[in-house]
Amino acid sequence: MIVYKFGGSTVNNAAGIIKLGEIVQSTRENLVIVVSAFGKTTNSLEKVVEHYFNQSEDWYKVLGQLKFFHFEIIKKLFPENNHTIYSEVQGLFDEISARLGDKPGDNFDYEYDQIVLYGELWATKIVNAYLVSAGLPSNWIDIRYCLITDDRYRDANVDWHVSERLIKEAFCFKDNSIYLTQGFIGGTERSLSTTLGREGSDYSAAIIGNILNAEKVIIWKDVPGVLNCDPKYFSNSERLKEISYQEAIELAFFGAKVIHPKTIKPLFNKKIPLWVKSAFEPENSGTLIHSVDRDLEMIPVYVKKTNQMLISILPRDYSFIIGENLGKIFGKFNAYNIKVNLIQNSAISISVCIDNYNPGITPLLDDLGKDFRVLYNENVELITIRHYTDDAIRKMTEGKEILIEQKSRNSVRFVVKGEE
Ligand code: ADP
Ligand code: ASP
Ligand code: MG
Repeated sequence: MIVYKFGGSTVNNAAGIIKLGEIVQSTRENLVIVVSAFGKTTNSLEKVVEHYFNQSEDWYKVLGQLKFFHFEIIKKLFPENNHTIYSEVQGLFDEISARLGDKPGDNFDYEYDQIVLYGELWATKIVNAYLVSAGLPSNWIDIRYCLITDDRYRDANVDWHVSERLIKEAFCFKDNSIYLTQGFIGGTERSLSTTLGREGSDYSAAIIGNILNAEKVIIWKDVPGVLNCDPKYFSNSERLKEISYQEAIELAFFGAKVIHPKTIKPLFNKKIPLWVKSAFEPENSGTLIHSVDRDLEMIPVYVKKTNQMLISILPRDYSFIIGENLGKIFGKFNAYNIKVNLIQNSAISISVCIDNYNPGITPLLDDLGKDFRVLYNENVELITIRHYTDDAIRKMTEGKEILIEQKSRNSVRFVVKGEE
């Protein structure tokens, strides 16, 4: 069997869903299809959660836009307006509206997970109904009852043991050849919804691939494969035809948005090949990520993370940043669920680069400020070049104010002042 994953970059309108149908139609093997929310739905649902949590009525407007967006797609895919998908999706909108009508509890992350998951439910219900209407025997599975996690909301950890049993039962391929399910979401043993972290549906595909011993996993994207840079930021991008699992982990960890960083390990553990391919040109070969036992010739690969914050932390008494101080500092980052993108230390200070868009930042800075002097710069970018050359470095840093530079054998990283 193989696992396909389609995300918001490919399923953002009716044409994308029709394309998905063509790809599935031309597949002969048993299939699990993982689908995440359409287009930028999760971003809009994050706004809904924020309004809801602040008890602002504005959630109503954003949810209305989401409803319009989804029903426009439904109308194009199902012109006969008595199809059951209309009432099914309406039912889900009624359910989320009822939830938003109640007062939120104190736990933001919990409320977040119970709301954003609707993006995945709407999308999978619609795509499944479309495949069935196109004559494909697709079976919709609610992954929340088989991908079991702990209750670390917004960044849940998978319970591999329980999930293995439940996923094997649910996706048993006894009488079915196609299953369709949600990426990004899971559920606790008490049936509360959880999410695996933003962009986590690539990871979901890898988890299912691992548990079902897939022959391969294919992530269908709006790009021809893994490129040597994000085409949204740079021109002249080149496709990497083949890379090792290790290279893929490094690129994803450094911020290449094309694959979620957690995707590689479950596949590496079982040596399952991962393909990244274009949903718009499925006949083209894409990028193969697998075990490579020879040196691959690599061109420079550029990863740029914008909207970063550089935080410098200094003990008030000039004590060294070692042992206890380090434990204390990173314990706080973990407690506020803030991921660190780069660390640089000196004897009496430590600088940390993080994504500048997390609700935990203000409470983290307040908390750190109790024990340390904390300085920060909000407008910075983090640039990584793998397999760097002098020319590549010049190209990326020319005219920029460099705040931090770190070089290893294969990578060079710069924290630079962002553009005003
Ligand atoms: P999906 O929603 O389907 O998961 P994403 O938007 O998360 O898709 O990922 C695809 C996007 O990743 C591309 O549109 C591209 O802008 C971006 N991207 C960033 N770095 C790379 C890279 N090195 N190669 C290809 N795409 C990249
Ligand atoms: N829909 C989720 C998000 O936008 C998961 C994903 O796309 O992978 O983060
Ligand atoms: Mg994604």
